[in-house]
Amino acid sequence: MSGLDIPWRLHAVVPRSAANGPGVRYVVWSQGCALGCPGCFNPETHPVSGAGLERTVGDVAGEALAGAAHLEGVTLTGGEPLEQPAPVAAFCAELRARSGLSVIVLTGFSRAEIEADPARSAAVADADVVIAGRYNARLRLAQGLRGSSNKEYWMRTGRYTADDLAAVPELEITIAGDASVTFTGMHAPGGEF
Ligand code: SF4
Repeated sequence: MSGLDIPWRLHAVVPRSAANGPGVRYVVWSQGCALGCPGCFNPETHPVSGAGLERTVGDVAGEALAGAAHLEGVTLTGGEPLEQPAPVAAFCAELRARSGLSVIVLTGFSRAEIEADPARSAAVADADVVIAGRYNARLRLAQGLRGSSNKEYWMRTGRYTADDLAAVPELEITIAGDASVTFTGMHAPGGEF
């Protein structure tokens, strides 16, 4: 099976967002998380089976790359992206090979947990920034893409600084042509990661 054929269970995709990292970004919420942080604001993303939408890596990558001219990068969040490390690795490798899009990964795993696991390490190999660690409701922050202050910025390239991440808007409200309203960002309903 080619990397592009790998199935990927997703909760949602937003093709353009300005509140999930620097610049305008394509955002992927994965489906499934077993980490169980008390106070998690995204419980609907936890079930692994019978929920979400299954797509292939190639399908999602093709959609992101089609909009690349208007994008700064891609953000992967969840749910827990690194509970599906194979599609994340294949997706990020495809973006790296075919575009200059940056990659930010928000995960509940700590940097040490990622580095101790070859599959998770491979999944973040092409990421510019990993924001790592369990959400801790007692340390709620909801700024700079960190749901709580214990979460660590792991800068894997020099593309962004902590100031770049701190400047990310905390809430984005999108009103579509059919009058449906979407909230994203750290202060959105379900935005605490
Ligand atoms: S905060 Fe993130 S890592 Fe923690 S339970 Fe919720 S989705 Fe999982």
